[in-house]
Amino acid sequence: MKLALATSMTSLVVAFTACTEEPHLSSNRGKSFEEFKASVYREPGEHGVYVISGDVPVANDAELFKIWQATEGGALSVYTEGGADVVWNATQKKQLTYCVSTAFGANKTTIETALNEATKNGWEKMANVKFIHVTAQDANCNAANPNVMFDVNPVNSGGQYLARAFFPNFTRDQRNVLVDNTAFTGGAGNWPLKNVLGHELGHVLGFRHEHIRPEANAGQCAEDNQFRALTPYDAASVMHYPQCNGTSTDLSFTARDKTGVEALYGAPVVNVAPMAQINAPMEGATVGADFDVTTQIVDENLKDVELLIDGNSVTVKTTGPFTFPVTGLAKGAHTIDINATDSEGLVTSRSVSITVGNTGGGGGGGNSLTDNEIQGGCATGQTSAPWSGVVLLGFVVGLLRRRR
Ligand SMILES: [Zn+2]
Repeated sequence: MKLALATSMTSLVVAFTACTEEPHLSSNRGKSFEEFKASVYREPGEHGVYVISGDVPVANDAELFKIWQATEGGALSVYTEGGADVVWNATQKKQLTYCVSTAFGANKTTIETALNEATKNGWEKMANVKFIHVTAQDANCNAANPNVMFDVNPVNSGGQYLARAFFPNFTRDQRNVLVDNTAFTGGAGNWPLKNVLGHELGHVLGFRHEHIRPEANAGQCAEDNQFRALTPYDAASVMHYPQCNGTSTDLSFTARDKTGVEALYGAPVVNVAPMAQINAPMEGATVGADFDVTTQIVDENLKDVELLIDGNSVTVKTTGPFTFPVTGLAKGAHTIDINATDSEGLVTSRSVSITVGNTGGGGGGGNSLTDNEIQGGCATGQTSAPWSGVVLLGFVVGLLRRRR
């Protein structure tokens, strides 16, 4: 049914053009734990042990996970101090409470929505962690409030950064996520706010910048060596600044981010619906008649991803990258939906409302939108050059130095 409808609407959708970011169903270099598990022989019977390396018995999933972690776990890098990982313990990781300051004013709903995307629809879909917004503390949301693990506050950094965060071993008064007003418009990189927050909350979970690894060859972005690699190097990681030889244009999550956060905090306790996000167009954007719907999907048992326009199924893709070109969409208001479905039928749906405005008919000019030019979208062809040397995100290094 869906496929038939997709066929009938082929005029609307042509072959995909990929953004630099390439989402994958699961890590395709380095195995995910599920892939590793599936490759290991298990003796028959309800309590059968796993057998690895020919004759080494492994009692259960938990033990097997430890072995996978040591051997296959390799794309995020966790902060270390004195050789030990700086992470939340088993209790804390499920109680990452925070408040959102009422000082955000008219932006409060926007920041709350974006935080929800970065947490419930982001990191929590990929690992056994839980962020909890304690709304009762919002009116008293400051660095001295002991009733939350951290506070989220607006800041005017004078253009120094979009946002900054902290690491798990910081004291309560230092545990702040500060969001500059420029982050609401994406800054120079035009990144979705939810992805900027996904990055910052990655620091909150203990992750360092992926570009500090030697593989990035990003001397201009050097920090220090206090990290332990959890996965193979991932140039597209949410923790990798694009301007530091990264390959992501929208700072979205990757399959290796899931592998990395799982290695540190364990997989979600039950099969959860896919981590699915629309990165472009952004909610409320005005676009030309031709544009890409850029999404990021991370899931270990993904079945397919469906694009709908105004409630009509347009196409269904079973393999990434999940970028859907749209051409010739009529002027006016439209709704773009995606449904990401896993093999157990769990579905994550995301939706944005957009407007197709006046275009230059492909020629464009002035301030009018040209084809494939999306406000807040995946700006294909952008390189690191425009952002070189500009600190766009976290200021954690400065904080670390201050603490020493
Ligand atoms: Zn950062």
